[in-house]
Amino acid sequence: MLSRRNILLGAAAGTSLLAVGGVRAMALSSEPMAPSDLKAFALSCSGEASHRQLVADAKWLLDAEIKRGVKKAADSEVVVCPLCHCSIQVTPDISF
Ligand SMILES: [Zn+2]
Repeated sequence: MLSRRNILLGAAAGTSLLAVGGVRAMALSSEPMAPSDLKAFALSCSGEASHRQLVADAKWLLDAEIKRGVKKAADSEVVVCPLCHCSIQVTPDISF
């Protein structure tokens, strides 16, 4: 059975760990991928099928920006596939 003291001690320990974790999160760094890993990612892209969701999401964002007046209806967006790194030009779906 948990006593009130044990619960408070657990909460204090959790808060301390959270603070340590926050400090560690600030120390994250990024490194470039090894060429073999890049090739593996490129092979995992199946072209049109893999890009369908990427293009749909970009179209949705572009349409939303046009509706808010941030972009013009004639604007387009270029998205880059994170797997094969090919770039795709996306045009808006909406018409006025
Ligand atoms: Zn791709």
